[in-house]
Amino acid sequence: MTGASTYDLTGKRVFVAGHRGMVGSAVVRRLASENCTVLTADRRELDLTKDEPTLRWLEANRPEVVVHAAAKVGGIAANNNFPVDFLCDNLALELSVIRASHAVGVQRLLFLGSSCIYPKHAKQPIAESELLTGPLEPTNEWYAIAKIAGLKMCQAYRRQYGDDFISVMPTNLYGRGDNYHPDHSHVPAALIRRFHEAKIANAPSVSVWGTGTPLREFLNVEDFADACVFLLKNYSSDLPINVGSGDELSIAEFATTVAEVVGYGGKLAFDTSKPDGTPRKLLDSSRIRGLGWQPKVALRAGLAAAYADYLQGYGRHLEVGATR
Ligand code: GDP
Repeated sequence: MTGASTYDLTGKRVFVAGHRGMVGSAVVRRLASENCTVLTADRRELDLTKDEPTLRWLEANRPEVVVHAAAKVGGIAANNNFPVDFLCDNLALELSVIRASHAVGVQRLLFLGSSCIYPKHAKQPIAESELLTGPLEPTNEWYAIAKIAGLKMCQAYRRQYGDDFISVMPTNLYGRGDNYHPDHSHVPAALIRRFHEAKIANAPSVSVWGTGTPLREFLNVEDFADACVFLLKNYSSDLPINVGSGDELSIAEFATTVAEVVGYGGKLAFDTSKPDGTPRKLLDSSRIRGLGWQPKVALRAGLAAAYADYLQGYGRHLEVGATR
């Protein structure tokens, strides 16, 4: 029941949906070292939320493999404030991409979920079997419901048609190509930007949302992209599979680490008017570890690379395209 399976990417046409996002762009970089052809579609050329154009594009380009990394994503505030966008855009993307992939006979599809699909009070570390065992964290339930629907679509296509569609659940991701929007980003990008701006302005303190006590696990996106390629080649099951680093720390500890990496020496001011979100979110990644995959990037080194990327101006506000 490990899901171990072998698939050869050699010579395959691999469509990365959402190639401009943090995850999609990392998957494209990682696939460059495989002997396959990577296909991407520019947003101006193809709106992936639209069924007919998506189907026509897949019919014309005939991928054998699809990585569905197109998603409407954002941090805790964006999720809370734009429930319609997070629910409907993600459902629309899943319906069009997954249905069209089935229609054109895609051999293997990898769907990207999120650790927020698990219940707010899931048993920690969170095993895949915790799915749908309790209520979701309210700040991101819209996104979570859409992602649960996506993984259920993959299971349904496997059950009804035998399609080899798999679902992968990453823990909190960070790294190159992240979204540095001050309100809509996730905590790593938000703090890299805020500490950098405070350093430049010589500000005495920096606001960190919430109490600082929630526990989160962080994984570098290059490691996650490597896991996606590993799973495309080595995993086939209707069970979703978790991908985490095991690097768990409190938001206060994480903020201190980011401040050190950025070189900001002022104080952290916890803003308790902002939500904490789920109290703890550590994935049980023993199944992917059992298949032989492990992360390589240490948190501090990964954050230093992310900060260098931010300084080079890669950070941009992404509406659709990244997932985590
Ligand atoms: P989550 O894991 O789905 O809650 O995603 P986030 O990355 O948005 O938030 C993780 C944790 O970091 C939450 O407890 C936030 O309250 C906390 N946090 C602290 N400062 C910030 C910030 O500036 N932006 C975001 N998004 N979260 C922050």
